[in-house]
Amino acid sequence: MPDLIAVENARLQGELRDHIARLQEANRQLLISGINAQQLAQQLRAAQAEMTHLAHHDHLTTLPNRRQFKKQLADHIAHAAAQGAKLALLFIDLDRFKVVNDSLGHGIGDLLLQAVAQRLAASVRGSDAVCREGGDEFVAMLADVAHAEDVSARVAHIHHLLTAPYNIAHHVLHIGASIGISIYPDDVADIDALMRNADIAMYSVKEHGRNSFAFFEPPMDVRAVARHHMEVDLRKALEQNEFELYYQAQVNLASSRTAGAEALIRWHHPTKGLLLPKAFIGFAEECGIIKLIDRWVLREACRQAKAWQDTGYALQTISVNISAQEFECSDFLQAVFATLAQTGLPPQSLELELTEGTLMRDSAATIQKLEALRAAGIRIAIDDFGTGYSSLGYLRRFPIDTLKIDQTFVAGIHPGSEEVLVDSVISIGNRLHHHVVAEGIETAEQLDFLRAHACDTGQGFHLFPPLPATEFALTMAGKG
Ligand code: C2E
Ligand code: MG
Ligand code: MG
Repeated sequence: MPDLIAVENARLQGELRDHIARLQEANRQLLISGINAQQLAQQLRAAQAEMTHLAHHDHLTTLPNRRQFKKQLADHIAHAAAQGAKLALLFIDLDRFKVVNDSLGHGIGDLLLQAVAQRLAASVRGSDAVCREGGDEFVAMLADVAHAEDVSARVAHIHHLLTAPYNIAHHVLHIGASIGISIYPDDVADIDALMRNADIAMYSVKEHGRNSFAFFEPPMDVRAVARHHMEVDLRKALEQNEFELYYQAQVNLASSRTAGAEALIRWHHPTKGLLLPKAFIGFAEECGIIKLIDRWVLREACRQAKAWQDTGYALQTISVNISAQEFECSDFLQAVFATLAQTGLPPQSLELELTEGTLMRDSAATIQKLEALRAAGIRIAIDDFGTGYSSLGYLRRFPIDTLKIDQTFVAGIHPGSEEVLVDSVISIGNRLHHHVVAEGIETAEQLDFLRAHACDTGQGFHLFPPLPATEFALTMAGKG
């Protein structure tokens, strides 16, 4: 019997050991999966936090994004409404940011935006909020403002901080900022209108010379409506043929003969009369209509130049201004070649004027396009040379024919002045074997100076003003 008991005991102990081992294994597994589950949960939490951050923040500057900001703003407005308090909304747009981006590259542009974001975030109080609205636009909300003077002082401080020079990748960048302000509840009581009014006020700052700030005022609303009308008017102008090209002679300074002409657009506005480009080109660029306008100009200028050639008055070149947006169109080359084919103008008679900014936007693609144009025989001019942020190095890289010295340099030529700048630009152009055209010649002194300094071509009111096609042809026929 005792044996039986011993055997049974041993069996039970064995079972117990197995059981314990299984329990231990199960426990170990449980522990492992516990740890796994914990890790998994942690990862999930981190991913979720990351996603939430991404959903609420701008990836470049890490500032709250528009959605998040609007939520914060709604909360603050509710709070202000309950307390009878005021708050200020600021719409901030950097001035000429595009120039930095175009000339120094997107990398530097991004670094600048990050630096601006940092300064903006540091310039406001804990209870305020800021966000990047997109591009080079930022929005800020100042909570608990007492009165307009208080807002004025705080915005002046923010503006001062934002516009102090930036040191970025060995470049010292000076950038302006235009700030529009609207006040809750003085101006309006809902978020969208508050944002819209601050935006309108910001535009008004831009229109009045930029780099400053302004409070929203009801008449500004009228101007916003006017801008809308302008867009409608521009579209109609194309349909109704309200544009006309004027031509300004480019004169060979050695021989005094007309070498070419620049086509300059004018708009016969049905109610406003004759408008110069500065009244509408900037706006046409903003709303994208510029591409349609540039195509019309190219067609009309080529048609006119060919018609003059056919009647025996041959200009060496007709120069056409091309906006950055148009140059960047994927079918730009096609459009130019098609226009030449349709009008029958020889490619050698066409010169396209591009600004430094346009050329610097994307240099690899730019060089390809310029080479294709020149391979076809078309000439390339850099317009307003010397006004961009560009380095001289690009002059060698870009295949170009003509440098047009900006009129501000020419305007600096006075009797007795030592015009080192103009002189240098002429020598650079001559050494690189480019044509050099001086723009905006208004006086005999300027003309003499340029002639004496080996500038080959001149353009300006002192020589010929821009003229409608018929008058231009008549004047030229008289001049020879
Ligand atoms: P831009 O291409 O530099 O054209 C020269 C501008 O200087 C013209 O102004 C011309 O009338 C003006 N100008 C000529 N001689 C003198 C002078 O002696 N003194 C002064 N102060 N100014 C002179 P405009 O016609 O008002 O055109 C202004 C700008 O608008 C042009 O500058 C060009 O950037 C743009 N633009 C003109 N036509 C077109 C166009 O068809 N398409 C595009 N995209 N832009 C155009
Ligand atoms: Mg031009
Ligand atoms: Mg120019």
